[in-house]
Amino acid sequence: MKKFFDIQERYREAGLDTREVKHAEVVQRVKSLPPMFSVAPVGQSAEGRTIYGVRSGNGATRVLLWSQMHGNESTATRTFFDVFNFLSASDEYDFWRAKIASQLSLSFIPMLNPDGAERNRRENACGIDINRDALRCTTPEGRILREQIQTFAPHFSFNLHDQESYYSAGVSRTPATIAFLAPPSDLLESIPDNRRRAMQLIVWLNNQLQKIIPYGVAKWNDTYEPRAFGEWAQAQNSATILIESGEYYDDPQREFVRKVHFGILLEALSAITSFEYVCEPVSPYFAIPWNREKGMFDTLLRQQPLTVNGTTYVSDIGIREGVQFIGDFETFGSLEKDENK
Ligand SMILES: [Zn+2]
Repeated sequence: MKKFFDIQERYREAGLDTREVKHAEVVQRVKSLPPMFSVAPVGQSAEGRTIYGVRSGNGATRVLLWSQMHGNESTATRTFFDVFNFLSASDEYDFWRAKIASQLSLSFIPMLNPDGAERNRRENACGIDINRDALRCTTPEGRILREQIQTFAPHFSFNLHDQESYYSAGVSRTPATIAFLAPPSDLLESIPDNRRRAMQLIVWLNNQLQKIIPYGVAKWNDTYEPRAFGEWAQAQNSATILIESGEYYDDPQREFVRKVHFGILLEALSAITSFEYVCEPVSPYFAIPWNREKGMFDTLLRQQPLTVNGTTYVSDIGIREGVQFIGDFETFGSLEKDENK
């Protein structure tokens, strides 16, 4: 993965420099893609914005990737265009590209929720979270995704999101820059073959990622949520992986994690073609630390005097964007080592 991470800037799509990516920026770019990509509308959003699909390759293994199902989560959309630039280049990676093109059929949906993107918010134009609409499919965007999964029947699905900034990776003192999940496909959280392959691929990717962001990988909450599309895709026997792009130091526009994401996607495609991941055991998947909600603060003040009704207590105070959180060592313990830096 390091090799892909290191070369991202060569293929980085210019102009997508901030976390706010709007529909017009995607439309203009997909319409300018070289002929090796097949670009076609896959449907329209609630407000009539055209949602596009981008396909390439003619291999037997089908891989579906969708981004920005939540309108304010753009990192994967930006990464898609870096990946398109990489796939359509001609250089020392041509052998690798030929392998991808001959073995994989890739289908991308950049920006599934253009109405939410226009408002820079999570939900669609009707205020509905598309990722809770997999069963009812009342939103046009949810219906589009469901139809794509049903008709394309992907062997692998990549459900790509951004997560909030303050998660740490377990009790480490590092932010959860990437979080993975192989969503369960039933209440028993059983491990059918497709979910096992998703777990193995995550283990493979995590091993690679530790060289770039040591202790910076977490696992998303795995409580079964049948209304979510990750769960739904997994239940359709597609090996489904959720990837959350998260925070890194001094990375307000998520440009660093965009590079990491580029490395992950290309490494994943590479591992699928080479089958390198299939020997991985699944037990290390369960050892990936959970996202820890009270893991990170902008400022953490230890052992501060706190006076309530005339009595003074000692407390730790975490501050996020000016908002104070009162806690104790137990609550904020993951950052204890930062005091000794
Ligand atoms: Zn999301």
